[in-house]
Amino acid sequence: RCFNSYTYGRLQELKQLQNQLRLTNQELTRLVRASKDSLSHLAHELKTPLTSIIGYADLFLRQHRQQPEVQDSYSNIESIERVLKSGRLLLRLINDTLEISRYDAGTMKLQPTLSGVPELINSIVEIIEPLARAKELSLVVDCDRAPEQVITDPLRVQQIITNLLSNAIRYTEYGTVRLECWKESQQQWAISVMDTGIGISPDAQKQIFNPYFRAVNDPQVQGSDGTGLGLAIVSRLVELMHGEIKVVSQQGKGSTFTVILPLEAIAHTDKNNVEI
Ligand code: ADP
Repeated sequence: RCFNSYTYGRLQELKQLQNQLRLTNQELTRLVRASKDSLSHLAHELKTPLTSIIGYADLFLRQHRQQPEVQDSYSNIESIERVLKSGRLLLRLINDTLEISRYDAGTMKLQPTLSGVPELINSIVEIIEPLARAKELSLVVDCDRAPEQVITDPLRVQQIITNLLSNAIRYTEYGTVRLECWKESQQQWAISVMDTGIGISPDAQKQIFNPYFRAVNDPQVQGSDGTGLGLAIVSRLVELMHGEIKVVSQQGKGSTFTVILPLEAIAHTDKNNVEI
């Protein structure tokens, strides 16, 4: 029943894939079901901001038709602000979903170069500091024990750290967000992002790297600008770099995400066809 919406050609492709990967019928069914589930999940996620965009744009137009002379009334401006906010969320959802499908299709590529760690960290802190300041959180950076240079894809590392830091700020109301980096071993360096925020329950910790998972569905707590895709992308990037990510967290106390990365990014993996 799971396959009945597939065309004959697509079914042949699936059969080939099944033979290549030596999957049992049950395993194949599970895979197909998971991909269908994530598609309907995506459609559901896209509906929320789109409904809001259509609703507020409609409201704006109706108000404008009734009182064309009142251009900048409070409710008109509020409608446009909401349209913009939902539009941005929609764009992020689409971009993030594309990132994940690029990884899953094996076409996400790393571009490793010799990169200075202090420069990399400074460029991230410049972006993140205003967010911390806006919530009156102190942002502490301790990267004195970090290696001077690593061979890595600097944009991807920036994406990993920025995601972890913006989560730390989003889910923390009081206290400190701390970024630490150090040389972990002869082959690895480490980055940790620590916060004094709401923390993550042991049950949620098992699911936070799944696409669209959000631990609390309360927009007041979550911030209405989350997509549930940030950590799914982070974990895929870390995997692509042959690194590791760990989380230690206590509800009401805070969370620490630690990422271990190789000092030299590996140029090629069969699985993801990574090229320099
Ligand atoms: P989102 O866009 O919802 O932040 P993520 O994939 O980045 O999506 O995170 C998934 C979920 O994990 C979040 O919705 C939140 O419930 C939880 N989470 C992530 N980082 C933190 C953190 N530093 N503190 C508390 N909860 C967190």
